[in-house]
Amino acid sequence: MSDSFLELKNLKKSFAPGEAVLQRINLTIRQGEFVTLLGASGCGKTTTLRIIAGLEQPDSGSVWLEGQDVTALEPNQRDVNTVFQNYALFPHMNVADNIGYGLKIRKAPKAEIKKKVKEMLELVQLEGYEKRKPSELSGGQKQRVAIARALANNPRVLLLDEPLGALDLQLRRTMQLELKRLQKKLGITFIYITHDQEEAINMSDRIVVMNQGQFEQIGTPDEIYNHPKTSYVAAFVGNANILKGTVAEKNGHHIKVKLGDEVASIDTEEKVNVGENVTVALRGEHILLEENGNLHATVKEKNFAAGQLRVLLTLPNGDEVTASRFGMNADIQPGQQICWRFEPKDAVLVDRPKGGTN
Ligand code: ATP
Repeated sequence: MSDSFLELKNLKKSFAPGEAVLQRINLTIRQGEFVTLLGASGCGKTTTLRIIAGLEQPDSGSVWLEGQDVTALEPNQRDVNTVFQNYALFPHMNVADNIGYGLKIRKAPKAEIKKKVKEMLELVQLEGYEKRKPSELSGGQKQRVAIARALANNPRVLLLDEPLGALDLQLRRTMQLELKRLQKKLGITFIYITHDQEEAINMSDRIVVMNQGQFEQIGTPDEIYNHPKTSYVAAFVGNANILKGTVAEKNGHHIKVKLGDEVASIDTEEKVNVGENVTVALRGEHILLEENGNLHATVKEKNFAAGQLRVLLTLPNGDEVTASRFGMNADIQPGQQICWRFEPKDAVLVDRPKGGTN
């Protein structure tokens, strides 16, 4: 497996003077890898994908596919296919003709097209649907046809721009599993766009977290979720609370951090000095509301969201944190004074200077 199957080198792009949409991005993708670009709306995900597809030209930088600079090649000269959120099926053509379209354009023999269409219908589990028009299909079925149509061209890379965005949650989860299964079976490199952290974590070999035209962090789902490097990644992917503190004590990997007038223990591999200001990321589910907790807070609000009880706490220094839990004590009431704590291993120091680990 080559380490540099697809490479983005120093890509820059702006659509208006002084407004950089991509700020010198670099990425190396292995053959057969499932890589997800994850980020908020407008951060440059689609622009990156369009440049890889050849639908957009970068201002500078280059795109390499299997050691070849493809930056100047037309979209149809690269072995790259794209699946869009809105399916983009031809409405007047039936399913079979939609799937076989790319092969027909390339003047493949009829028998070959027929064989390929059959193979693709099996792959996306739509046998028997070949004569239907797109208007006679559900959203999930349309998206499967769009995927089959893209795969029928035997692309070396499949680009997927929020392909499940229009589907309801349940179908979306089923399709996530199907897509992942397909990708593993075919061994094709997938570059997938989403702004849904759960989808990215479920499907990807690696996630690229984008923020304002830059790559904040590139890593496995475990690295991104459990070891965020920046407060942006911690907040965007793990919904973490971000706290500012000062290192009060240091004993090897164990440090004590002052958060206002209170002190919390944190385990870290980061190189820190006593007196240094640090930024701490702490996920809501790691906040333990316990009577013997060494930290204090006042309950500001509580609500249920996404099956979890969330409690907004005001700390003595005025900072706010959100604790979240399944089955957390529902008796907690706004205005109540409570104690809380967290395990030293559960807090992560973020926004560190580069090369700062012990
Ligand atoms: P979303 O998740 O909303 O699709 P995105 O991360 O894919 O967002 P892009 O579509 O890459 O973001 O857009 C990045 C920025 O570039 C946005 O501010 C957008 O308005 C701008 N942009 C994209 N395409 C064009 C264009 N053709 N002309 C001008 N501005 C553009």
